[in-house]
Amino acid sequence: MSGATPISVPRSHSSQLLEEGAAFGELTRGRAPIAERHEVVVIGGGQAGLSVGYHLQRSGVPFVILDSRPRIGDAWRERWDSLRLFTPRRFDGLDGMHFPGVANDFPTKDEMADYLESYAAHFRLPVRTNTRVDRLSREGDRYLITAGDKQLEARRVVIAMSSYQRAVTPALASELDPAITQLHSVDYRRPSQLPPGDVLVVGAGNSGAEIAIDLAQHGRCVWLSGRDVGQVPFPVQSPTVRRLLLPFLFRVVFHRIVTLGTPIGRRARPTMITGGFPLIRTRSGDLSAAGVSRVPRVDGVRDGYPLLADGTVRRVAGVVWCTGFNIGQSWIDLPVFDRAGEPIQERGVVPNEPGLYFVGPHFLYSASSTMIHGVGRDALYVAKHIAHASNLARR
Ligand SMILES: Cc1cc2nc3c(=O)[nH]c(=O)nc-3n(C[C@H](O)[C@H](O)[C@H](O)COP(=O)(O)OP(=O)(O)OC[C@H]3O[C@@H](n4cnc5c(N)ncnc54)[C@H](O)[C@@H]3O)c2cc1C
Repeated sequence: MSGATPISVPRSHSSQLLEEGAAFGELTRGRAPIAERHEVVVIGGGQAGLSVGYHLQRSGVPFVILDSRPRIGDAWRERWDSLRLFTPRRFDGLDGMHFPGVANDFPTKDEMADYLESYAAHFRLPVRTNTRVDRLSREGDRYLITAGDKQLEARRVVIAMSSYQRAVTPALASELDPAITQLHSVDYRRPSQLPPGDVLVVGAGNSGAEIAIDLAQHGRCVWLSGRDVGQVPFPVQSPTVRRLLLPFLFRVVFHRIVTLGTPIGRRARPTMITGGFPLIRTRSGDLSAAGVSRVPRVDGVRDGYPLLADGTVRRVAGVVWCTGFNIGQSWIDLPVFDRAGEPIQERGVVPNEPGLYFVGPHFLYSASSTMIHGVGRDALYVAKHIAHASNLARR
């Protein structure tokens, strides 16, 4: 089910259409001709896009999903080799299909990738891989989607992706001595990518802490720089915690309490968007046990080396920037971002661009919005909104 409508020209209208076609030609000069028209185009075929697809399919709304990567699940496959999810399998399934295996184990990132691929196959979701959208714009009540030499048109578009699309690195990175190997966490796979010598990991959130431990366990001297983001107040690795407390943390706290529907959630949102989550699986004791030393934030550069807020200089061979991401909005030619670069939306519905939706960004509606177990609720809300709008339009 791709939802593509072939464009046919009834013979009796051909001359009138020729004129309209010429006018259209004027309008679209220099642009590839519209190849397809769709009711809904979902951009992004990770967990967010597949969840939206699942719920649209159940509502009987035709759609197509476009994804830039070669294989479904590649966003997970491309993460570092030793990565395991911090959510146990029982919280790693999307609506309609359990994640296989022992419920309280943490799966590998490749298992997650394969699960997404089998999810799309199981529900026969129409995903087109290797299709990067270069531009999204609007003309009248239609969205125009340019992907390479293809032009698609859609009545509604869902931008379905996490806020982790474009790596963010501080400007001072460019002032470091070129002899220092620098990687962003998005490009980090394994310790051997870095030359022998000490490593500074900048950013002490979940990714920074886990990469620091990965490096230390491979014999590197590792400094972890950045603000202490705190940690969940119990050891997630413990079997009792996994069985009893994690359901409370993920399904009650992150999914039901810390939402835009509660005062506590509204207060927490700005901090969670800028500061991220507390450490979930890694504990500060794990860092010291692995030999990782905590140091203050990087404040500048001296003699080509990172200068810390306490005035010390770290003469390291490598730096791993775990300094976050943003949604990478350059291809979205629509005024739908606020000054901080966050999508302007209400539960995923963009008020000033009718027919446009977001699913997947951090804290869209709740702390769980960008997590696997939480994305389904946002996807369902948006799919219902689309189904309702499509039904109204058909009447
Ligand atoms: C290191 C790390 C570990 C995480 N661990 C967990 C965990 O344990 N548990 C949990 O619940 N959550 C976890 N998350 C959070 C979240 O589940 C993941 O980030 C997840 O990948 C988000 O899925 P998504 O579909 O929203 O976005 P993504 O996985 O980022 O997928 C978006 C897709 O859209 C495609 N795309 C982007 N731009 C375009 C474009 N212009 N045109 C076409 N396609 C495009 C991308 O290629 C990608 O395939 C983790 C996040 C990170 C960064």
